Amino acid sequence: MPAHRPALTPAVLEKGICSGDRTLLARAITMAESTKPVDQKKISSLLKRLLPRTGKSIRIGITGVPGVGKSTFIEVFGELLARQGKKIGVLTVDPTSQKTKGSILGDKTRMERLSRHPNVFIRPSPTGHALGGVTFHTREAILLCEAAGFDVILIETVGVGQSETIVRGMVDFFLLLVLAGAGDELQGIKKGIMEMADGIVVTKADGENIKAAKQAQADALQALHFQEAPASGWKPKVLTTSSTEGKGIEAVWKMIEDFEMNTKKSGYFGTNRNDQQEQWLEESVALLFNELMHHSTVLKQKTRLMKLVRKNQLLPTEAAQVLWKLVRKTAG
Ligand code: GDP
Repeated sequence: MPAHRPALTPAVLEKGICSGDRTLLARAITMAESTKPVDQKKISSLLKRLLPRTGKSIRIGITGVPGVGKSTFIEVFGELLARQGKKIGVLTVDPTSQKTKGSILGDKTRMERLSRHPNVFIRPSPTGHALGGVTFHTREAILLCEAAGFDVILIETVGVGQSETIVRGMVDFFLLLVLAGAGDELQGIKKGIMEMADGIVVTKADGENIKAAKQAQADALQALHFQEAPASGWKPKVLTTSSTEGKGIEAVWKMIEDFEMNTKKSGYFGTNRNDQQEQWLEESVALLFNELMHHSTVLKQKTRLMKLVRKNQLLPTEAAQVLWKLVRKTAG
């Protein structure tokens, strides 16, 4: 007989999360990712209860192409912060969704050392989600981790284009990892992504790669030089690190601390978070509207109207009116 588990009411989850129960935190995140209306209702109620405990962490987005060294960096960076007594929440990509035929044993060791640290909670986002590990519910996961008392939240995403923009919209500091060498120094990094970065780190600056890393650092600085000044008033920095040798890692944290201090002083930090809240509302509305447009009754009617429109038997504007009335009725 399976052990009896208490019902996961918002009150039970709240108590568990606030007392540092990792299992309940993980289950709440799973619930946030669920599409079931009953789960969504519970999460809304839970987040409302937890809201006063949220917002106190520094939210850091970390991106870069597969193989750039994200997980190795997060491991040593997280360990550094954990040693300082900080509590770290890592929202990471599931390696099985990142690598097509990667070695299973290799995948299992991703951030293994860090995951054993008592100050650290690692949450891989489930396979099957597109957008480089980011989901619409990553924001809720951030709030849940904050309520659980994590001081630093690291949100990893693989460079698949759209995911960077989404993560940028939910973090305070956006860190781009790049590789040195291999021909064109800033290979594969789209200009738009560089423009989003508050800091760039050239990884694997060790051994024979040091010279190439320094060159890539100079190239990135040069590229930044021609960029418009960001709204934060913060001048993005370019650093080099070696995760395997543990070099340059502290400087990354120092950069983020400087950023936080500067932008809190200027007021940008708070304004940016307020803007992000607004953005969240916009996205939620768009999501609801999208759901409504995919409601079976609406879809059926839309298909019927489409046929008439194609045959020139109905004006598209008229069809839109009919559809709009139905959408309003369906929304109740
Ligand atoms: P991710 O796909 O971006 O998460 O990259 P990983 O962290 O899995 O690293 C990809 C490969 O680069 C692995 O074989 C790592 O051992 C190696 N790697 C990561 N960081 C460093 C580093 O600082 N120096 C060197 N030489 N290799 C590194």
